[in-house]
Amino acid sequence: MTASSISAGNAAKALNAIALNAKASADFKDKVTETLALLKQAVSEFSPVTQASSLGAEDVVITHLINQNALNIPVFVLETGALHRETLALLERTQAHSVAPVKVYRPSTEKVIAFVRTHGQDAMYESLELRKACCRVRKLEPLAEALKGQRAWVTGLRREQSNNRAEVPLIDRADEATKGQIKLNPLANWTWGDVWHYIDLHKVDYNPLHDQFFPSIGCAPCTRAISLGEEFRAGRWWWEDEAAKECGLHAKK
Ligand code: SF4
Repeated sequence: MTASSISAGNAAKALNAIALNAKASADFKDKVTETLALLKQAVSEFSPVTQASSLGAEDVVITHLINQNALNIPVFVLETGALHRETLALLERTQAHSVAPVKVYRPSTEKVIAFVRTHGQDAMYESLELRKACCRVRKLEPLAEALKGQRAWVTGLRREQSNNRAEVPLIDRADEATKGQIKLNPLANWTWGDVWHYIDLHKVDYNPLHDQFFPSIGCAPCTRAISLGEEFRAGRWWWEDEAAKECGLHAKK
């Protein structure tokens, strides 16, 4: 190994997501305790319950807590057919190492082919309607399948992520009457620094795209890196208005 390759390696390490972001809040330990209590409550009061994981930083923290505490919360991932190879590789590693079962839901191949034939590969950039139609086929329909028979689902939503999410409650009963499901957001109070402090503390495996300035990771065509000073979710559907930036999984009424 040459001196220049060593220093390049050190520079890359110095700039990784942990080095850039890990910073525990003063009440970090209390937050972990609160999160664990909510996950345990999920099992005792809201079973069957499942974790929706996009394999982003928040979700790998929750899966780690589930596994560390042997909680009966299976995990599911929506494999839209448009994920980055880094995300697919993390999915494979997660399936290999997670104690909690990790189930993968995919969209209907026929529907994806029909959508692309009719609207083209880049339809999502043409209009909000087509982008939402793509999300419906690739995400929302598989999500409905994943949530069938579930009493509750666990997400990695945090209040800090965007204005749309600023009031996310720990226990969200907004859809209980219509869909019969409760949404649990155990990291609602966590900061981005807390998430990375936890990942660093427990050496949690994470998506290397986070090291390339992708704080929020979705499908490859709809996610880009962000620049210094940009909003947390600026890299998602960046060509759209801020208010439209949800795929429907967590849309507010
Ligand atoms: S995020 Fe983009 S590629 Fe993924 S389902 Fe939505 S529109 Fe389609």
